[in-house]
Amino acid sequence: MAIKELDYYVLDMDGTVYLGDEVLPGARELIAFFEEAGIRYCFFTNNSSKSALDYTAKLKRLGIADNPHIITSGDVTADYILKTFGPSPRAYVVGTEPLVMQLTAAGIDCADTAFPDCVVVGFDTTYRFEKAARAVDLLRQDIPFIATNIDAVCPLEGGKVLPDCGSICAMLTHATGRKPKFIGKPFAETAGYIMRNAGRPAHNIGVVGDRLYTDMRLAIENGMCAIGVLSGEMTKDDIALSGLKPHYLFDSAAQLLEVLRET
Ligand SMILES: [Mg+2]
Repeated sequence: MAIKELDYYVLDMDGTVYLGDEVLPGARELIAFFEEAGIRYCFFTNNSSKSALDYTAKLKRLGIADNPHIITSGDVTADYILKTFGPSPRAYVVGTEPLVMQLTAAGIDCADTAFPDCVVVGFDTTYRFEKAARAVDLLRQDIPFIATNIDAVCPLEGGKVLPDCGSICAMLTHATGRKPKFIGKPFAETAGYIMRNAGRPAHNIGVVGDRLYTDMRLAIENGMCAIGVLSGEMTKDDIALSGLKPHYLFDSAAQLLEVLRET
């Protein structure tokens, strides 16, 4: 994998371009470089609790990008549901209002009906016992079980975390014995979605991120270039202990930009 052969970049957000409200070193300059050089890129987040518009507003507010192309795990999940269940599918959604609106806009009926085509679980920051009870009821009837992302926790500032989609699913799995089909990073559905969007083969696409088991694994297992940054979650020790070796490893986006300017 050679970085100079890449002509499309997939950027993670939290831990890669910002951490909470703090812009990480080189993030603004990297995006400015892509814009000036005419290099195409998108931002991809596994967080399905917010809409692309929420992220656009944040990237604008932080001065990182004016008109960013944002893809969330919710987009890939909508695409997967439409491909799997055909036109006008019905889904029971355990998710936030933005996720329900996103799936509805894609043509998925999210009303709570007696026989939905699938149960979809997202990073539901509005999770309630009633939703869990209804999901368990449907999963016990063998309705397909789909989850937007596998993350166990969502990091917050100050070292705190929130239980993420993977943890909500673990509860439903414990109650029913059913395991979800996870979409989002690092899975093949997401790699395929990115390649179709980019109009590029995998070996021309670089994935820049701070998480080993989502960002780096997405790239390594799907033939893309894995560009790790140490500005967020993963450490050199984590990499040494895992079987995943990024093709490139930088302290931050600033160091990646230095290398890109030299090539
Ligand atoms: Mg991240």
